[in-house]
Formats: sequence, C-alpha cells, structure tokens
Amino acid sequence: MKYLICSNCVMDTSDTRIVFDEKGVCDHCNDFYQNVKPNWHTDERGKNELAAIMGKIKKDGKKRDFDCLLGLSGGVDSSYMLHLAVKEFGLRPLVFHVDGGWNSELAVHNINVLVDKLELDLYTEVINWEEMRDFQLAFFKSGVPHIDIPQDHAFIATLYNFSDMYNIKYILNGGNISTECVRNPMEWLYYGTDFSQINDIREKYGTSKMEAYPFSSIFRHKLYLRYIRGVKVVKPLNYMPYIKSDALKLLEKEYGWKPYPQKHFESRFTKFYEGYWLPERFGFDTRKVQYSSLILTGQMTRVEALKKLEKPAYDPETIEDEFNYIATKLKITPDELRGYFTMPKKYYWDYRNRKTLFNIGAKVLKAIGVERSIKR
Ligand SMILES: [Zn+2]
Repeated sequence: MKYLICSNCVMDTSDTRIVFDEKGVCDHCNDFYQNVKPNWHTDERGKNELAAIMGKIKKDGKKRDFDCLLGLSGGVDSSYMLHLAVKEFGLRPLVFHVDGGWNSELAVHNINVLVDKLELDLYTEVINWEEMRDFQLAFFKSGVPHIDIPQDHAFIATLYNFSDMYNIKYILNGGNISTECVRNPMEWLYYGTDFSQINDIREKYGTSKMEAYPFSSIFRHKLYLRYIRGVKVVKPLNYMPYIKSDALKLLEKEYGWKPYPQKHFESRFTKFYEGYWLPERFGFDTRKVQYSSLILTGQMTRVEALKKLEKPAYDPETIEDEFNYIATKLKITPDELRGYFTMPKKYYWDYRNRKTLFNIGAKVLKAIGVERSIKR
C-alpha cells in the first residue's frame, strides 16, 4: 500500500482504514469538523450547562458520603479533573486508584501530592499481581496489539464496582475532546470490555483462574448500571476551554506535580507498550493520534508534530534496560519476550469477538447523541 499522510493532521496509512478526501484531508479530521466541533461548546453555553450538572450532583450527594466518583491514574487529565472537582466545583469525590503493579515513581509522587494537598482519602485497589502477570502474558502470547487490556479492564471494572458498592450516581471522567478528539483506530487498540475476546485469549493462553481480578461486562456497566441504576458519566473538561499546557502549569505550581515525557506514561507498562512495542512491532504510533488531536484543537502545529515524530517514542539509550525490566517483572527471560515481539502478528479478528454487536451499540449511542464520534 502506498504511504499517505493527512494534509491537515499527522494521521497516515499506518491506520490502514484511513480515508482521504480530494484535498488529502483524512476522515478523522472531517469527522471532527463535521460532527464534533459544532456540538462542542466551551463558552458561556458550556459553562451554564456544566453549572446545572454540578448543581444536580451536589443536590443528589447531600444524603450520601460522596458526591461523585473519580479514578486517579496520576496522568494529567485525571489529576486536573480532581483539582477542578474539589477546588472549582466544591465536590466531595471518592477518589480511587488502581494499582496494577506498574506504577512509575512519578505517578506515585503525583497521586500523593494531589491527595495530600486536597486532604482526601485515597482508595487504592491493588490487583493481585500473579493474576495480572498471567493475564498480561496471555495477551503477549496471543500476538495481538491490544496487550494493554489487562490494565485497562481492571480500571473500568474497579470504577463500576466502586460506584455500585458506595451507591454513587455520578462518575467524573477526565476524558476530553480537547486532547483526545482523534481516537485510536480499532485495529490498534481494540475494545477492553469484549468478554468474548478476553475469554478466548484466556482459554488459549492463560493459566490462572483469576478469582480476584475485577471483571465487568459491558452489559453490566453500559446497560444495567447506567439505565437501571441511573449511574451517569460526566466529562467536565468538555464544557470549558481545556488547554493541556495550562493544566500542567497549574498542577506544577499548586501541587508540585511533575509532568511525564508522554501521555499515558504514568504506567511503566504503558510506557513500554505505547513507546516501544506498538510502534516497533506493529507500526502503530499513538503519538500520531495524540498530536493530531492537539493539532485539531489548536494546541500544536503540524510542523511541530512532524518534527517530534522524527524521533522514536522510546529512548534508544535505555530501551534495553526497559526491555529487561519488563521481562523480569513478568518472570520471563528477555529472550522469551523477544520471541513475542517477533512472532507473527495477530489482530482482534483472529480471535472470537463481538465487534458487530459493539458497533451496533456505538451507532445507537451516536444516533441518540451520547457519542459524537465513532471509534473505527
Ligand atoms: Zn487528518
């Protein structure tokens, strides 16, 4: 296939299903301009809408111990979200963190400074390491790109478990259009909640029964919890101007928070995975998605992004140490890990999956205006 890159952002044919119009502009850009931007209001209108939502959250929370639930990864979006929730909106969140065994020292520092300064209790869910290890190894052995699912799924499941356990109706989510309007293609990062796929991979390559690991099916959290129990997910950052560099400055100044070299690098596993494994084994560089989002929302120029992309996402000086660290932590040899790196590539369609059903669900959410853009 001929290599092509969008004339407006930096997405290219490494996203094999990308479509370009006659001006060479990709479908991520066109989807943003046609569907997302017209419905995105960060002015007075957004401010008023958000004020109304905050009013409801506080009123509903009066008789409860917590107003809302917030998962703190240590990354910039969730950290800034927590600052806003407490300082700007005056909410009383239950703050939790999922420790999947891969926290970087920087992430631990950032979580601690925030929670201390805001005088909050932190609820930490520690995932059973032997189960996590087994689950992650199963994904390595399967050969697919989405080996981040064991971490990802634990977070989603813990979130809904907390909401259920403490009867909390509102979930604050740091997800936002401003820095995430371009989505990772499905081929790069498949759905983290497709049990059909998870089970198929576990049956073939897993060895643990995983009795402690938190699972949550999409039917439970998207249908039962949302529609029967009325749990709502709110993304406050979408109702206001959210400029990443400003958020970083505020966090550094107010809390002594320290920035990461790249989005999602709060986890050592994700750093290795998104910085090295995905681009080098599959040619999928998630920075293209992140930078394209920033280009579309005016926070980075295309020239700047292209310049950054000339360098690899990992540090060639330290990658060997990093490689050995990951192998040792997973209790395998570096050679075994290298074997998974060079094995034939597999994708979500090589295993059982419910993509058709998930797509129908996504289309319904788009039709009723819950989701603006579809992951494809
Ligand atoms: Zn584009």
